[in-house]
Amino acid sequence: MTENVDFNALLNNTTVTPGLDLQTPEGGHAAEGQTRHADLIRKAYECPRCLHLIPNDDMPGAYMGAGSRITEDRSIEICSACGTDEAMGNGPVPRSAWPVHVDPSLYEMNKPRR
Ligand SMILES: [Zn+2]
Repeated sequence: MTENVDFNALLNNTTVTPGLDLQTPEGGHAAEGQTRHADLIRKAYECPRCLHLIPNDDMPGAYMGAGSRITEDRSIEICSACGTDEAMGNGPVPRSAWPVHVDPSLYEMNKPRR
């Protein structure tokens, strides 16, 4: 069902899904037909560790991200770049220090292959 979805187009889309009543960032209600996909997607798939998207910025929500190593059960989902960063970059960084800066090359490395 999510095949062939152009997520970049969705992220840039300021028109909307009819019938949804979403709160705007200002606390008001978006008029019917004016909901913002970009905000929805960002809220749903934001990586808590770096504020990029899970699993990556190109395909938010397309598949699961990584489980952060800061908890033993690895139950905090983070983006693929952060998973790589915890494994071989900065390593696990305490939650109190999030959001962290992740080397841009890790986002490149975790981009979907076409
Ligand atoms: Zn991240």
